[in-house]
Amino acid sequence: MQPATTAEPSCAYGPIVSYLLADGVISDRKLQYARRIQSKLEAHKSLLGVLKDLKCVTDAQIQESVRSHATNLPVGELLAELGYISPEDLELAVKIQQEEKNRRKIGQILVAKRLVDESDIIQVLSMQLGFAHITPEYDEIEPEVFRRAPAKWYEKHCFIPIRRTGEGVLVAFADPLDDEALEAATRFFGPDMVRAIAHEKSIRRVLDQFLRYAKTEHEIQLNDDSVVGLANAIIVAAIEDEASDIHIEPLEDRLRIRFRRDGILVLHKDLPQDIAPTLTSRIKVMCGADIVEKRRHQGGRLFFDHQGHELDLRVSFYVTVYGEKIVLRLLNRKGTLIQLDELGMSSRMRDRFVEEALLQPSGVMLVTGPTGSGKTTTIYSCINHIKNPQISIITAEEPVEYIIDGISQCSINPKINLTFEETLRHIVRQDPDVIVIGEIRDNYSAEVAVQAALTGHKVLTTFHTEDSIGGLVRLLNMEIEAFMISSTVISVLAQRLLRKVCLHCAEACKPDPALMQRMGYDPKDCIGWQFRKAKGCQHCNYTGYRGRVGVFELLILDERVRNAILERKTSYDIRKISIESTGLVTLLEDGAVKAAMGITTPEEVLRCLPKLNRPRPLNELRHILGV
Ligand SMILES: [Zn+2]
Repeated sequence: MQPATTAEPSCAYGPIVSYLLADGVISDRKLQYARRIQSKLEAHKSLLGVLKDLKCVTDAQIQESVRSHATNLPVGELLAELGYISPEDLELAVKIQQEEKNRRKIGQILVAKRLVDESDIIQVLSMQLGFAHITPEYDEIEPEVFRRAPAKWYEKHCFIPIRRTGEGVLVAFADPLDDEALEAATRFFGPDMVRAIAHEKSIRRVLDQFLRYAKTEHEIQLNDDSVVGLANAIIVAAIEDEASDIHIEPLEDRLRIRFRRDGILVLHKDLPQDIAPTLTSRIKVMCGADIVEKRRHQGGRLFFDHQGHELDLRVSFYVTVYGEKIVLRLLNRKGTLIQLDELGMSSRMRDRFVEEALLQPSGVMLVTGPTGSGKTTTIYSCINHIKNPQISIITAEEPVEYIIDGISQCSINPKINLTFEETLRHIVRQDPDVIVIGEIRDNYSAEVAVQAALTGHKVLTTFHTEDSIGGLVRLLNMEIEAFMISSTVISVLAQRLLRKVCLHCAEACKPDPALMQRMGYDPKDCIGWQFRKAKGCQHCNYTGYRGRVGVFELLILDERVRNAILERKTSYDIRKISIESTGLVTLLEDGAVKAAMGITTPEEVLRCLPKLNRPRPLNELRHILGV
């Protein structure tokens, strides 16, 4: 709260009058006139009051001006200017405040001195600034939003979150103009929170109820038992949120916990910083890392039993300036093994993928894409599709992410010298029909894959490249003879995961022409398609997206592409040939069609997919993909 101006009341004017002046609502001339009148009045009246009496300004205009300048408006001056208190009252309150060691807010002092009623302040703020006046009730507080911040912050700054709304989290403040409270609340609920005003007493009453009845994690004493509970609670929450990773990050003033959901990090909650060392030690114990070591990066692994389902978590500790950052990756999550039909391939592409690649008895099948693009899920769906009691399937993975019944999976473990190289050396001696190599990471693994295919095996593997042609080119650059590649690789599937429009709040919409333009389409290309957008609801955490769908670029190598590889053509040429002769649909094209069908959005397509060629018209793609 800023101190009030100490100049002579008659010649000074408050912030509202200066806003009105700046906004051009009143003229300088009218202001001078009002001042002359004010100086002649026997009893003090604020300049704003005089302007109102002279009909130079209306209540509605005042409201509008105040609302548009609402940030940083000191409550005391607002009250004085609107005539609720005299300039002397304000001066007194400011003086008291300056003498206090633990400075209270001007509003609190005015109320304590009975110079104004708390209800008056609330009325001024809700009438003038448009904040809804609410009385929070224990029952209507959403526990999920309440848990986002430590209770001591609510007590200190006197605010309380109520619930999520379409615009943001509704937060009730005793003083919605208090800078510190605003800053604290913004940190946990974001800048788009919806501010409301409530009696301080009603906020404190609900806080007390929460602390008494609802045992929140923030109160946990820093003893071992409760930290065990806290670590478990975080992991359980991540499983229930269908998160893929948990990020526990020490920041300057708090411990931030975020979950990766549908590929995007979402704040789970902030914890007080002082809990970090014990929580970190607890997780280290759980995953078998060294508790004493705090200055080096470490890794670990833990098994977690959740409702009879055993989860495998890979843990990484990374030393930062504020302490160790912990990332827990949730492996073999329940329900993540999905059928080939559910990956999101268009029907025609899926049929070709199964007939011309997956069911071929030998050859290398590559799946490419960056980390987190769903490659592993696709590989597992493939294994699940082809496994049967007559064939032997063996894997070398780092690590095994899902356990599939009936196949032999090996998790690489360099700690005990069970390296990738060592495993691949033994894998072919196991008389397999199908070999799954987690990832081609060097010349050696590429060599093993190609050799195994040459000797009649089927090899499924992944690769870190942008698109399908990039996969071929990278193999060519790995000191493997072009003829070996051209005669063994049967397919390259490039993929990405795009967020799906939330089904619960989706609405048909017209696509934004500028976005379509960036994808390479005109508005007229979109006729006859059903684009959709979601406004956000509780099912999608108000993001408008829920779940993800795969977007694919399938290259089935034919004679012309094989020749192009033998001739070591450029990737541009190979790409051109593939599109012309093999029916290749690019990632961008497949994504554009999925956006046009309302499964995802143009924003997602532009966010996630590379644009290498101008896409073909949507209606032409409809035929190629069979949608
Ligand atoms: Zn929704």
